[in-house]
Amino acid sequence: MIILTHLHWDHASGLKYLSESRVLVQKSELDFSLCPSEKQERYYDYKSNDSYLNGNSFELIKGDYSLSEHANLVYLPGHTPGSQGLLLEQGDSSILIAGDAIPLFENWYTDNKRINGIFHDKNLFIETYEKIDSLATQVLPSHDSFVLSFFENEELNEVSRKVKSYFSKNMGVI
Ligand SMILES: [Zn+2]
Repeated sequence: MIILTHLHWDHASGLKYLSESRVLVQKSELDFSLCPSEKQERYYDYKSNDSYLNGNSFELIKGDYSLSEHANLVYLPGHTPGSQGLLLEQGDSSILIAGDAIPLFENWYTDNKRINGIFHDKNLFIETYEKIDSLATQVLPSHDSFVLSFFENEELNEVSRKVKSYFSKNMGVI
């Protein structure tokens, strides 16, 4: 299973090297990627001959979607119209793999949270941050190299171990 947080080229282009996978993406994201706004056109790879669209079939999601008792796709519009994250929950703890909704730890773990400077809809993005605040006790950003040390930490909590477990079962989130 592959979960696409969104279809910007730096997250989705590698899909052309994979096949016969269950690929989950928001319908609104796929629609937008085929006809992006002028402001976002350069971030999508839909015109090249080896586009991520070639040969792949998507399972289109609309809004929040439950994968299992402890794993949910969460709709996070703002950076793009159809951004989504993967929320893993266990007990009172939860962790969100946020995609570019939260690119760096400093976007989230500061006194004044800062949205990604690349956005489709700023107001929606602010609402998304409020949603994340209500859902997740921890977040994993998409472009922060310190994420790797999170996975190497000897004192990983139960939720973090759950993330590793999901990855080991052939799930990819890009
Ligand atoms: Zn992006």
